[in-house]
Amino acid sequence: MYEVKCIGILTSGGDAPGMNAAVRAVTRAAIYNGIAVKAIYRGYKGLISNEIADFKTQSVSNIIQQGGTILKTARCMEFKTPEGRKLAYDNMVAAGIDALVVLGGDGTFTGARIFAQEYNVPVVGVPCTIDNDLAGTDFTIGYDTALNTIIEAVDKIRDTANSHERLFIIEVMGRDAGFLALNAALASGAEAAIIPEIQTGVDQLSELIGRGFRKSKNSSIVIVAESDVTGGALGVASRLKKEHPEYDARVTILGHIQRGGSPTAQDRILASRLGAAAIQALLEDQRNVMVGIVNDAVHYEPLASAIKNEKPVNRLNLDVLKMLSI
Ligand code: ADP
Repeated sequence: MYEVKCIGILTSGGDAPGMNAAVRAVTRAAIYNGIAVKAIYRGYKGLISNEIADFKTQSVSNIIQQGGTILKTARCMEFKTPEGRKLAYDNMVAAGIDALVVLGGDGTFTGARIFAQEYNVPVVGVPCTIDNDLAGTDFTIGYDTALNTIIEAVDKIRDTANSHERLFIIEVMGRDAGFLALNAALASGAEAAIIPEIQTGVDQLSELIGRGFRKSKNSSIVIVAESDVTGGALGVASRLKKEHPEYDARVTILGHIQRGGSPTAQDRILASRLGAAAIQALLEDQRNVMVGIVNDAVHYEPLASAIKNEKPVNRLNLDVLKMLSI
């Protein structure tokens, strides 16, 4: 059995609210179990440029409620090269780190997996992304906060949409996943969600217009997931302008506001549980897994399948949305 004495922790890729709560949980759970903690700043970039510092329990005081990540995050092309990873490994060994806990999404886990295979280093991934697009966990850290930020914004847009009796097309993030768009549409009472999982996504708009959705309503909100498949809000709006110039549509792209803010209770709880689970995984000699929560129980998902497998959106929710938006 491989005994971990010192972990390195880093946040990488896109930031997500709740990352700090997860940094706190990993740090405290490690120290509680007699494992030393080294903070690696700016993700893999900091591992290569040796931005490593000791972390104590008080290093993570008062951060559970803060958005962003105190460890900073970065994208690092050098880590995609064997030379870059060699530098990273050398710095890791010099700092006395014998296992890594990486907080991030798909790209972060892809890098972690390659590194773990190359150097036989135990790595545990903690899923942090507002997109919720990782298999092996019901929810990712940051998703719930982003969802709440979106519905707060949509509620405000609804006020002006109602007053002017207008159609609003609102674009939300999600990369290639429709979790945010679909569930924000349900939670804000939107008339439709256009998501990349439905290949004929844009036809949902035709269908909606075919139903004459404005007859009984004085405003309409369509939430579109950013994606090449959907064409984003601008793509939908330009199609609408051509095919239905009678609609006075406005476009709002919510953008990076969705990444910020204090994490919700759900995200803080999820981050706390997953941070503790990451240390438990190392104590159990698990390696190269992502920790997740499935049906309210901790679950270890091999990094390979967390990255590769698609997590499906619940398509039944689209039917509910249609039913409730009459
Ligand atoms: P996210 O983790 O949010 O999906 P990115 O896709 O930007 O974010 O990935 C974060 C970082 O992970 C990249 O900047 C890079 O350093 C590392 N990474 C991603 N893909 C690979 C890869 N194929 N090989 C090595 N490292 C990778």
